[in-house]
Amino acid sequence: MEKKSLKIEKQNLLEENLLQWEQVQNNLKKNLGSQIYSSWLKDINLLKEYNHFVVLGVQTRFFRDWITSRYADKILDEIKKHKLSINRIEFKIQDEKTDNKAVYSHPTENNVADIKDSVLNYNRLNPNLNFDNFVVAESNELAYLSAEKICSQLSRYNPLFIYGGVGLGKTHLINSIGLKLRETNQVMFISAERFMYQFIKSIKKNEMVTFKDFFRKANVFIIDDIQFIRGKEGLQEEFFHTFNSLFDRSSQIVISSDRAPNKLDRVQDRIKSRLSGGLVVDIGIPEYELKLKILKKKIKEFENSFKEYPNLSEEVVDYIAKDSNSNIRELIGVFNRIVAFSKMSKKPLNINDCKIILKDVYRSSKVITIEKIQNVTSNFYSINLEEMLSPRRSRPLARPRQIAMYLAKKLTTRSLPEIGRKFANRDHTTVIHAVKTIDKLSQGNEEIRKNVEEIKSIILSD
Ligand code: ADP
Ligand code: MG
Repeated sequence: MEKKSLKIEKQNLLEENLLQWEQVQNNLKKNLGSQIYSSWLKDINLLKEYNHFVVLGVQTRFFRDWITSRYADKILDEIKKHKLSINRIEFKIQDEKTDNKAVYSHPTENNVADIKDSVLNYNRLNPNLNFDNFVVAESNELAYLSAEKICSQLSRYNPLFIYGGVGLGKTHLINSIGLKLRETNQVMFISAERFMYQFIKSIKKNEMVTFKDFFRKANVFIIDDIQFIRGKEGLQEEFFHTFNSLFDRSSQIVISSDRAPNKLDRVQDRIKSRLSGGLVVDIGIPEYELKLKILKKKIKEFENSFKEYPNLSEEVVDYIAKDSNSNIRELIGVFNRIVAFSKMSKKPLNINDCKIILKDVYRSSKVITIEKIQNVTSNFYSINLEEMLSPRRSRPLARPRQIAMYLAKKLTTRSLPEIGRKFANRDHTTVIHAVKTIDKLSQGNEEIRKNVEEIKSIILSD
C-alpha cells in the first residue's frame, strides 16, 4: 500500500516537472555561442527522462565522444537549472545500427524499487565496446587473446583477471566478453562499486537473500575495477562468498583491476589467492604502434560518419601518436579535439596547432596558479600587476583584470570566493560578473577573443 502511494507521488512529481528541452537548448545556444551550438548541439534529442537521469540521442558515435568530452558538463548544468534531480546524462547513438536495446532497457518507474530491476539498471553492457573495435598490438595482445579464449572455452581459465592502468581498455575488453557470451549465457556485468552499493542497499532493506540469489545465479560473472574493495571488510566478506559460490558452480568469473592481485593491499589474503588462481594477464602501456592503429581506426569512423576525410596529414597523425600520453581514453579525446578544430578552422592543422591543442588537453595534469595567470595577463597588456589588482576601474585596467579572473575560473579549480580573494579581496560576485562579461565579449568581439586565446596559450605553453 505504502509503496504504491509513493510511486504515484513520484509519477506526479515527474509529470509536473518534465524537462523543457527546448529551453535547455536555447540556453546552451546563448551560453556556448551559435557556432558551437549548430555544429554540435543542435541535433541532440531528448529521448527519455527519468527522475535522476536523461537519455539524449546523438547521431553518431563521434558526436557522442566529442559532446561527452567537451559539453556534457555544460549540458548537465543547464539541465539541472530546469530540473535539479537530474544528475547524469546518457547518450544513445541514433544512426548507428548497434544493438542499443540492452543498454537502454531501463526498468520503468514502476519497478525501480525491486532489487532485481535496480541491479539490471547497472547490468548494462555497452554495445560499442566489443571485440570488433578493440585494436590489438603487442601491449594488449595477451589480454585480448585470453579474453577471446574464455569465450570459446568457458571456465577453462577461472577466474580471468585482467589488470592495467587507467584508460587502457580493461572495461572495453571485459565488456566485449560480456557481449559475446550473453548470446548463450546468463551474464552479469557490474562494477565493484555498484556491487557494493547493491550490497549495502540490500542490507538496509533486509533483502540479503534476494541479493545473494541474484548475483549467484549468473553463469558468467564479470566485475569491473575490483580494486574498489580495498579496505572494505564487509564488502570483501560478501564478495568472497559470492565468488566461491559462483566458482563452485563453474561459472566463469572475469575480473578487472588497476593492479595485479598480489598488489591489492588491504585485501584479505584468501581473496588475493582466489583472484590469482586462474589466469592473470595485464594490459601494458600502449606503444606507438597501438596508438597509431587506434588513430587510423578513429579516422575511418569519422569518414563513415561524416563522409569526409578529417583533414589530418600523416605527419600530424604521427605526431599525435608519438606525443600523446599513454592513456587511450585521452588519446581519443585528443583526436576528437583536433578533428573538431580542423573542422571549425576549415584548414588542415599543422603540428604547431596540435601542440597547442594537446597542451590544453593535458593541462589538467599541470598546476596552473592564479598568480601565474595574473602575471601573464598583466605582462600581455604591459601593465603592472599592482595596477591590475588595484580598485581602479578604468578600462585599460579593468578589462585585463576581468580576463585574468575569467582565466582563473576556466583554468584552475579554485572556487569563485578563492579567486576573489586573490584579486585584492574582491567579492565572488565580481568574479562572476567578470566571467560572464568575458564569455560574452569573446563571442562578439574578435579582438578580445584573440587576446584571451593568446594569453591562454602563453599560460599553457610553459
Ligand atoms: P579502462 O577500463 O582500462 O580504464 P576503458 O576500457 O574504459 O579503460 O578504455 C578507455 C577508452 O579507450 C574507451 O573509449 C575504449 O573504447 C578505448 N580503448 C581502450 N583500449 C582500446 C583498444 N585497444 N582499441 C580501441 N579502443 C580502445
Ligand atoms: Mg574501466
